[in-house]
Amino acid sequence: MRFPSIPTILRAFNTFSNTTFHSTPVSNLRGLNPNPRIALLKSSMPTIPFIGSLFSSSSKPKMSDSYPVQKNEGEWQAQLNKEQFRILRQKGTEFAGTGKYDKHYPSSGVYTCVGCDAPLYKASHKFDSGCGWPAFFDAVPGAIQEKPDGHGWSARTEILCANCGGHLGHIFKGEKFGNPKDERHCVNSVSINFSKEEGDAAAAEKPKV
Ligand SMILES: [Zn+2]
Repeated sequence: MRFPSIPTILRAFNTFSNTTFHSTPVSNLRGLNPNPRIALLKSSMPTIPFIGSLFSSSSKPKMSDSYPVQKNEGEWQAQLNKEQFRILRQKGTEFAGTGKYDKHYPSSGVYTCVGCDAPLYKASHKFDSGCGWPAFFDAVPGAIQEKPDGHGWSARTEILCANCGGHLGHIFKGEKFGNPKDERHCVNSVSINFSKEEGDAAAAEKPKV
């Protein structure tokens, strides 16, 4: 058996050297790789606030509801007490049977919005539904807004004050309580005030004698 010739050994060493030489730029490239990545990140960063603005704009329809009375959250918190704010502005619900107007049946007068004093319901609209919340079968014309709320089995219709967008409660139809419109406006006592004076808006509806 012959030993490899010196030129062969040299060639082998050279090949090895070349290999290590070639591997050097690769490791250098690895070292360089983070830089292009950073560059890539930096170039993509402007899209992040852009996407963020898309999301924030998608929540804007709430703000675009144009009610005559417009106040920001801080202003509502300053005006309303904690419970009024929770129900009127955060769509909360008072416990059944606890509202001060649940068993309240005056012969005349008007219920107004706690948020903006707009006349919403007349005393003559109120009836005893036994549900634990003030119930009305009709409202002052144009005073309330109906809005779909929830989906599927939990679908309901929300009632909002048309003047300030305050949450009043929910409306249920076709329950056959025997009232003229077959509707039950289930309203939180917290969302309304009662006034013996019907005011101009409600008085305008009175039939002329
Ligand atoms: Zn209101």
